[in-house]
Amino acid sequence: KELTDQTLNDMKAKEKDISAFITVNDDAVKDAEKVDQAGIKGPLSGIPIAIKDNIVSNGIKTTAASKILYNFMPVYSATVLEKLEAAGAINIGKTNMDEFAMGSSTETSFFGDTHNPWDFDKVPGGSSGGSAAAVASGEVVAALGTDTGGSIRQPAAFNGIFGIKPTYGRVSRWGVIAFASSLDQVGVMSKRVEDSATVLSTISGHDEHDSTSSEKEVPDYRANLNKDMTGVRIAVPKEFWHEGTNPEIIKQVNVAIDKYKEMGATVDEVSLPALKHAVEVYYVLASSEASSNLQRYDGVRYGFRAKDVKNIKDLFVNSRSEGFGDEIKRRIMLGTFALSAGAYDAYFKKAAQVRTLFIEEMGKVLEDHDLIMGPSTTTTAFKIGDKIDDPLAMYMNDILTIPANLAGLPAASVPAGLADGMPVGLQIIAKPFNEQAIFNAAYALQ
Ligand code: GLN
Repeated sequence: KELTDQTLNDMKAKEKDISAFITVNDDAVKDAEKVDQAGIKGPLSGIPIAIKDNIVSNGIKTTAASKILYNFMPVYSATVLEKLEAAGAINIGKTNMDEFAMGSSTETSFFGDTHNPWDFDKVPGGSSGGSAAAVASGEVVAALGTDTGGSIRQPAAFNGIFGIKPTYGRVSRWGVIAFASSLDQVGVMSKRVEDSATVLSTISGHDEHDSTSSEKEVPDYRANLNKDMTGVRIAVPKEFWHEGTNPEIIKQVNVAIDKYKEMGATVDEVSLPALKHAVEVYYVLASSEASSNLQRYDGVRYGFRAKDVKNIKDLFVNSRSEGFGDEIKRRIMLGTFALSAGAYDAYFKKAAQVRTLFIEEMGKVLEDHDLIMGPSTTTTAFKIGDKIDDPLAMYMNDILTIPANLAGLPAASVPAGLADGMPVGLQIIAKPFNEQAIFNAAYALQ
């Protein structure tokens, strides 16, 4: 109870500069009292955790940072949140994000910008920018995010924290507002690797409400942490040294990779030729899936409803026109086009075929390597306003994080020094369901 109270006070002071949250849970102290009364013991008992606002929370407004859900009050909680609460964690509030998780800077939020705690004029990254800023500023010890094309790893890199996207299927998406269902995963962000390990073990596992969630047993990632890197085989794809990458980032990432060599790991250069198609493939597939998933926002069942409409068609059209932001409309148009009869073969089908190349190429590298490493991003956090009017520049942000989503692999970003005074992230990708190897490598570097 004291910790929750203190966290809320601390948040009040810091939020003036950061604006990491859309909604603060005013009942958090009461929730903490309930945890006390229930006598829940364990590592997360009484620990305030921030929840990205596309994860539904019973009785606490959930908006996905969109006007179309500005007043949406869920009547149930996502499985990940239920699991956290059963372990005694406190949902301290819902964090800001790009609208429907589409974006790389948290600037597409209907609720305004979040500021990077390292430099208030810079973006926190996105789409889980609020979660990352809440952790980096010390408002909370851990936060949940979601990652469809890099939305946990890129903000983790921009804020100098650890962030992990688990294997596709590791964590239930029941109650997670869908963006691109073949790519979306819930994951964790924290300063310390140990804390993400604890939280990920807690939220992982099969869920009868999500048929894509795996039956595989959930390891105790924290108890199994091991810093021994002897004999660990690391692959570094040469395409990860992308021409547009800030040379200071390359330098810092190489310093980190050299540390693994000193710790006894082997490092090989490999090739992932498909990488040059990552952005195109992702934006066709993700937009197509989004155009389908977002059909449910019609102004009838929940959320924003346009006023003064004459008929049902107007109700749909006006509610969607007024309720969705520009980026969402761009993706719905792109996705609807890519799925249309005349364009399907040339766009959607082609992209799905190239996706298979990613799965094959990365699978092959991981046949004789334990980990793939490289930078998480090509730049450090950029200035608020710099890229928001240039969608292609914004999309290019994701080139290094997209491959893990296309292949369904677990991947994390780990702090690896500074470039021009801003944090750099080392990306670590592992074999399916080998999150432990990522935690261990990150722990060894910490
Ligand atoms: N930036 C990417 C996009 O806008 C990734 C978003 C995400 O991972 N949710 O789609």
